[in-house]
Amino acid sequence: MTSLMTKTADTLKTLRLGNDLTQDQLGEKVHVSRQAVSRWENGETMPGVDTLKELSQLFGVTINKLLGEPTRLVCQCCGMELDENSISSDPDGSANPDYCKWCYTEGEFVYKSLPELIGYLVEHVPLGNLTHEQAEKYFTEQLKELDYWKTAR
Ligand SMILES: [Zn+2]
Repeated sequence: MTSLMTKTADTLKTLRLGNDLTQDQLGEKVHVSRQAVSRWENGETMPGVDTLKELSQLFGVTINKLLGEPTRLVCQCCGMELDENSISSDPDGSANPDYCKWCYTEGEFVYKSLPELIGYLVEHVPLGNLTHEQAEKYFTEQLKELDYWKTAR
């Protein structure tokens, strides 16, 4: 269990109790079983992305808040800020708050090496009037601190 999952578990439970709902009632509102709600609250699984959207509407909070504010959620591969439209899913359908859906797709990481990703970013992300080399240096500095690239790649 990651610490983020613990946070999500606590947040969901607090919001549910604050809204005076049983696990059954919450499950009914977002179309899942009571067991599913119980597994989220025990930190065993994460809700799916669509369910997270429903939960965020139901409780009137941002998805970032559900996933453990005040931590700012960024993709640990490319550094992009994560929201309900960019967050990735694990193959079992639960949301994966560590990566964006472009870096992590169907259980697979898209970028196998940092130069590969940086090559992509330099081509596709406008950075004012930085030269190609400056942009490469900028992205390298930004990305090498992210978890995905810190763990021996
Ligand atoms: Zn990413």
